[in-house]
Amino acid sequence: MTVNLAGFNVDIENIKAVQSFCENGINKEEIQKLNWTPETISASYARISRDERPINELREQARTEIDKARRSNNAIIFEMGHSSIAEHAAFNLDIIGVSRYLSEQIEKSRLASFTEKSQRYIKIGTDYYIPSEFDEATKARYVKTVEYLFETYNKLHEMLVPYFESQNPDLKPGDKGYRDLVNLAKEDARYVLPLCCHSQLGMTVNARSLESLLKKLTLIRSAEAAELHKQIEDAVSGYAPSLIKYTKASAYQSGMFDAVRDLLDTAHSMTYDGDNDPAMVAACLRQEYAYQGVQLLDFDKECIDKVIAAFIVRYSDIDYKEAFARAKKTLDETKQQIFDRLYDLLDQHDSVGREFEMSDFTFGIQLSASAFAQLKRHRMATIIDSEYVPAIGCIVPDSIDAVGGKEIFLTAIEEADAFYYDTYKQYPGLNEYILTNSHIKNVILKCNFRELVHISRLRSDAHAQWEIREISDKMCETVGKKLPMLAKFMSGKDKFKK
Ligand SMILES: Cc1cc2nc3c(=O)[nH]c(=O)nc-3n(C[C@H](O)[C@H](O)[C@H](O)COP(=O)(O)OP(=O)(O)OC[C@H]3O[C@@H](n4cnc5c(N)ncnc54)[C@H](O)[C@@H]3O)c2cc1C
Repeated sequence: MTVNLAGFNVDIENIKAVQSFCENGINKEEIQKLNWTPETISASYARISRDERPINELREQARTEIDKARRSNNAIIFEMGHSSIAEHAAFNLDIIGVSRYLSEQIEKSRLASFTEKSQRYIKIGTDYYIPSEFDEATKARYVKTVEYLFETYNKLHEMLVPYFESQNPDLKPGDKGYRDLVNLAKEDARYVLPLCCHSQLGMTVNARSLESLLKKLTLIRSAEAAELHKQIEDAVSGYAPSLIKYTKASAYQSGMFDAVRDLLDTAHSMTYDGDNDPAMVAACLRQEYAYQGVQLLDFDKECIDKVIAAFIVRYSDIDYKEAFARAKKTLDETKQQIFDRLYDLLDQHDSVGREFEMSDFTFGIQLSASAFAQLKRHRMATIIDSEYVPAIGCIVPDSIDAVGGKEIFLTAIEEADAFYYDTYKQYPGLNEYILTNSHIKNVILKCNFRELVHISRLRSDAHAQWEIREISDKMCETVGKKLPMLAKFMSGKDKFKK
């Protein structure tokens, strides 16, 4: 794994000074004295609330008195607790050669931006992570199983390309659209790829959020997470010592699992602590666990009136309580007219507006690692995910079934499952690296209607990958049935009426 610091924000005056030196060749000594750090921006912005001087003067002072700026950051962020000051510093990090397993954990950071290598668009080579914690025998079995999964991936890919070609007989190599067709083969073959598969991603993150990510990394019991923690810290600490300081998980964060242990049911303890034969546990759990897909668990039944009330508050002098009472008295017909008028104004790129955030929906979703990789990117939703639950089974793409590849696929998955269960007690956590993109986890997704509409635009669209599209369609269909007045707002960009 390699982490490169690709960039960070610096005061524009530094850049202007360098430009001037390049053009005129003067003031070399001044250039050498420049401090290349985002800390001066944070320190000067921190002073805005109590110092009436113009901000550019505060920045100038911070630039010339770097030690004072650092002491000030330290006092304001860590002693007074104004952590938001650290958000004025942003870093760009290349994270290369990280496992998909760990990239999943990284991308759970909500206040950050990511772009990751796509297994839909790139053919994956045999490049993967081997946990250094494994003893020799475990490592040998792991390597054998992983290589087998990669072989199966290549075999399935070879079977799927002609299948998708036959589905689109007019498209020939070199034609526009042929690449998309071949990508469908990658998209489905990758379901058998293990989570230890190497990936790469670009991350843009502010110092506060990065500190929070570093803390969370210390909760993951793997040498890979420890290595990532070290490399990120090494990459940024020299440039922002006053902004990132507490990088270990708190006692609360690390003690949470123990605190809730009593809540865990017997099935859980069978897999975690039991002395049972792993194969027997798997067989037993498979009978217990049935695939449920998407379920709407809960929603706010008064949400239409709450949305209407929010519009009344926004455009009048009426308070929320009174507005809500008025909304309740408003005829359904009138409400429908209002939503129709709003919908008529809407373009596919518009967000429906904050008023629609007055509504909450909670879904229980069982989905593959492949679909979770996409769902978790929706940062405005509350997403709580479990570990993978191989006992639920796995998602097999229809195309694999259609080309007669299901048996090859499931045989490879069984090998991965066997490794997972056999190493459960010795290597908890690390055994998840062998699980594949097809393995299922449980997710709770809570979001408001505004975010649900946004999810539908991207994920119910024809360009979306089929599993996440099915999930999004199901979420929208279920909500649409409960709230027909709002149903038409939810659709992919392609189905949008204009
Ligand atoms: C067809 C398709 C292909 C994709 N391919 C790839 C790929 O190859 N690699 C990859 O890494 N990702 C890929 N993605 C994921 C994509 O880049 C987004 O991360 C994902 O769709 C979430 O979208 P979002 O950021 O708009 O949504 P959300 O995170 O749900 O945010 C909702 C809205 O809130 C606002 N918002 C949220 N966070 C911020 C922020 N930090 N700054 C400003 N506004 C914000 C925006 O208005 C945003 O639209 C793909 C997505 C699709 C649909």
